[in-house]
Amino acid sequence: MAELELKNINKDYKLENKTRFTALSDINVSFEKGELVSIIGESGSGKSTLMNIIGGLDSDYTGEIKIDGMDLKSFKEKQLDDYRKKKIGFVFQSFNLIPHLSILDNVTIALTLSNVKESVKNAKAIELLSKLGLKDHIKKKPTQLSGGQKQRVAIARALINDPDIILADEPTGALDSETTAQILEILKDIADNDNKLVIMVTHSEKVASISSRIVEISDGKIIKDEYKKDYVKNKPQEKLISENHEKAKEEKIEDKKPNKKKKEGHLSFLSALKLSFHNMWASKTKNILMAVGVSISLNAMILMLSLGSGLTGYINDTAQDYANPNFVTISKSGYDRDGNPLEENSNALIPRMFEPDEIDEIVHELNEICLVDNDFQVVTSGENQNLNYGFSTVTMGMGYISPVQNGEENNSEDISQQPSINPTANQEMILYTYTTPPYYTEENLLAGTMSGMNEIMLSSAAIDFLGLETPEDIENGDYYVTLSINMTYDNIPISIVKDVKVSAIIDVSIFSSMMVMYIDYDFLDACVIEAQERAQVLNPTGLKPSLLFIETNSEETTDLINNYINTYRKDLSGSVEEQLAAMFSEMMSTFSIALAVIAGISLVVALIMILVVLYMSVSERTREIGVLKSIGARKKDIKLIFSTESLLVGLLSGIVGIILSLVLGGILIAVFTALLGFAPIKMMWYYFLEALAISVVISVLAGLYPASKAAKLDPVESLRHE
Ligand code: ADP
Ligand code: MG
Repeated sequence: MAELELKNINKDYKLENKTRFTALSDINVSFEKGELVSIIGESGSGKSTLMNIIGGLDSDYTGEIKIDGMDLKSFKEKQLDDYRKKKIGFVFQSFNLIPHLSILDNVTIALTLSNVKESVKNAKAIELLSKLGLKDHIKKKPTQLSGGQKQRVAIARALINDPDIILADEPTGALDSETTAQILEILKDIADNDNKLVIMVTHSEKVASISSRIVEISDGKIIKDEYKKDYVKNKPQEKLISENHEKAKEEKIEDKKPNKKKKEGHLSFLSALKLSFHNMWASKTKNILMAVGVSISLNAMILMLSLGSGLTGYINDTAQDYANPNFVTISKSGYDRDGNPLEENSNALIPRMFEPDEIDEIVHELNEICLVDNDFQVVTSGENQNLNYGFSTVTMGMGYISPVQNGEENNSEDISQQPSINPTANQEMILYTYTTPPYYTEENLLAGTMSGMNEIMLSSAAIDFLGLETPEDIENGDYYVTLSINMTYDNIPISIVKDVKVSAIIDVSIFSSMMVMYIDYDFLDACVIEAQERAQVLNPTGLKPSLLFIETNSEETTDLINNYINTYRKDLSGSVEEQLAAMFSEMMSTFSIALAVIAGISLVVALIMILVVLYMSVSERTREIGVLKSIGARKKDIKLIFSTESLLVGLLSGIVGIILSLVLGGILIAVFTALLGFAPIKMMWYYFLEALAISVVISVLAGLYPASKAAKLDPVESLRHE
């Protein structure tokens, strides 16, 4: 039985305009072991086409190829991969070494595809390379070798699986005459001593002259097939293949049956990772640049998350510090009970005063809900002191923003009955005036003591603005400012001007950049009564509250009351602080959505960028893919190689992103701390993990298409690829 038998092989190439080109017609030929066959013929005569068909790279033909008595046509994809891996060794004109792998790795690649142990495959490769005179070059890269050396590496690669057939397509086409002779000698030796079938394509008669048989092809037909009578077999010398060759041969025969039972190893994930790593390393600059590009998106994501949680956390913390959880602060919202805006009261700067009957009504309603659920009685000052429930009085307060600019107060009628307060007249200043909340204590002061009559407390920003002294000086000294309280009664402007002591610097944390003044309710009330008396108002009412503080017995009661107000009393709302905090939170969530959208877009951009880079990598490596397929790589192996590459790209981008975020975040924290005294950036460790995971996921996703594209490449076309 012939080693290889071709029966009636016909091959047509389909051309674009639906015509066909016959590259091979009626090829009938058989080959034996130990033959060194030269296939000669003019360029374009069909030699390579024939080799590709024999080598199992091209299955689009008619006819029969018998190998070990089996028809190649009947092979399933897996068997065909195996056939290329074990039975055939390819040698190409242009060497087709994988540029990013070392000589050793180039030779062992076919074994790597079978998951052969590192030590075993390296020993095998080193033995082969030594015999081919390349022992000292195993660590080099292909570009560091001469043409003849490269072709010897390619021969070693072809021999590594100890195939029965070596297919060499113009192996000396790119070599000078001296190296040509060396390579031919090696091929002859493989046929003679290793008893392999070597089929070599050449268009040179001189090269053909050393072979045992010459088959000439012209226009896709065999026109001559002659054995050389004067062919001298090489004397048996040291065999190229290992010593235990014969023993190996025994095993091999079983081994080579494509439908053998033994479980065959495949390219391992680790080996694929190693291959990808080598490839990425070979184009470091490109990959690092891409990773930096992708990492900018990740970085944006991490920083946005950190900023989001930093700001939210900060606002929540300060809001909690600021508002006592056992107090409900109620003010008028500017809406009616049904949530419709009250037009006449649309100005946010105006304090909306509670009339006594309105306070009674609120107290009555709150008592109804509290008594049912909470045994808690809200009382207005001085009433029901002997009830058996937990109870608290409602404390009055006032808070508004003094609309004072350039020393001229806003004399809008709405506020004329309420004081417009301005410490140190004729200063340009917008001051948030607030009567000291009942829960405010010395602990909330940055310096000084709680204010009483004829005293005020100011925020640091207000202190700075007024050119007052440092905290220590406030604590120790007597610092006075002029406070003017302006009101209008019956169109008569009344101004109460007092020298007041600045008793403390208040901690208004989140609003620390705002100018805030705290004044005692009683003191302000006294000033208002003084003004009303001066204006000869008939029934001086004193200050009307714009805030109601209800002390509760627990946070649950606070929540209960707050929920009730939020749900049923649209005309009421929490304190200005709470409103501001709520506004901040709302802004933050809008902000967060905007940031998430930006981050999302940038991740899509990153995904496309990775896709483009990996796609380019596939087209750059087309030839390599062809080579891998010619040595038996399965589609899965190719996919795995490219998928691990995308995985590495993801990891690299993620790591660069994390480093960048740490650096940038650190800088931002330093800058914020220097400027504001706090940094609204809270980097959580899991943001980094998330970013890394996202990076890996998008990279792997981006890699799917290029990887499957690579796996589907036609090996013949890939090998032709320039
Ligand atoms: P050579 O003997 O030079 O190796 P080939 O086997 O490469 O010749 O090509 C044989 C003929 O088939 C040539 O005329 C070539 O143009 C044609 N051919 C090769 N590949 C293709 C293809 N993919 N599509 C169409 N024609 C092809
Ligand atoms: Mg050719």
